[in-house]
Amino acid sequence: MSFKISCQGATSITSFVDFLWLKLSPAISASIRKIMVQKIAGDMRATCPEFNGNRANLEKHILYSLAEEENFDKYWKYIQRPEEFFRDYIRDHIKRYCSEKESEKIKTFLNISLGDIKNTILSAIHKSTKVAKAKGSTASGWLDLFCDHLGSNLVFPRRDLVNIEHQELMDTEFLKEAMSKALDPAMREIEEDCSSKHIDEIVPDIEEILSEHLCGCWKQCPFCKAICTNTIPQHEGDHSVPFHRPQAVSGWHWHKTDQFDINVCTSNVASNICFILNDRWRYKYKKYRDAGGDYATWSITPDSSTQPYWKWFVCHFRSKLEHNYGKKFTGKGSIPDLWTKITKQEVLNDLKK
Ligand SMILES: [Zn+2]
Ligand SMILES: [Zn+2]
Repeated sequence: MSFKISCQGATSITSFVDFLWLKLSPAISASIRKIMVQKIAGDMRATCPEFNGNRANLEKHILYSLAEEENFDKYWKYIQRPEEFFRDYIRDHIKRYCSEKESEKIKTFLNISLGDIKNTILSAIHKSTKVAKAKGSTASGWLDLFCDHLGSNLVFPRRDLVNIEHQELMDTEFLKEAMSKALDPAMREIEEDCSSKHIDEIVPDIEEILSEHLCGCWKQCPFCKAICTNTIPQHEGDHSVPFHRPQAVSGWHWHKTDQFDINVCTSNVASNICFILNDRWRYKYKKYRDAGGDYATWSITPDSSTQPYWKWFVCHFRSKLEHNYGKKFTGKGSIPDLWTKITKQEVLNDLKK
């Protein structure tokens, strides 16, 4: 290629154009990919109610879909490994969005992106040629102008073009025509390349953008495993969450018994009850921070109001919880009759508030 380019005349301009397109095409594909990622992530944030707020909003939707599905394994993962659960949930949603909308929206996004880039390149060709012609520039000068005009629209490595920059450009008008003529077939190839690539390839990039907007602290209440709702991952001050859960959800039970503790931590911290760590260290719930570690960094304020959600959950998955934790809802852990009367519909309605 370098040898061919060193020959002068029309052939050398054709080789110059061929070489330039050889470098331009992958840069365009990469730009299209980037634009598509931004467009899809932006559209998902605008149109999916799960993603148009903060993580607390997403969690509401997650709790809603968990209740709708009634799949205990999913609940278990959400309780024990929430960060992983959220990540999978976001990824599944992106995949679903992409496969459902592939035919319409994504094609439209692709066409718009291709059109925009094509216009940018065409205008860069015309503008660079005009200036180069007036100045009597060399190939190197034309390339500088061309790359400047592309600007931030296209990440195009000027340094990859050193092979072709040393020739004199006698006929800038011919170069313009050759570049413009090559544009359409090149863009068609890029379009084919972008359409044939599986959408799965861009899922991780979309996921990264969405996750960034939905980030937050992942600390879980040491008693009930409710997730801190602070939107800053390494925030200052105490961890907190507006609603705690019955401690049985995370396996707490009465000392030296197999009976679950169905109290919510917010009511335990208002009582005179103690909790025991490692079978040995006894602390008053009222002074739970004395236990140190995670206990010292959580703000759990006494509150007797409770949500129906986790009461319904405990009743509905009672035997699964008994099996997984090896404890029982008997004796001090007996489930109150009132809890068993809560319907799934009530729980779903409450989440919609
Ligand atoms: Zn709690
Ligand atoms: Zn926190």
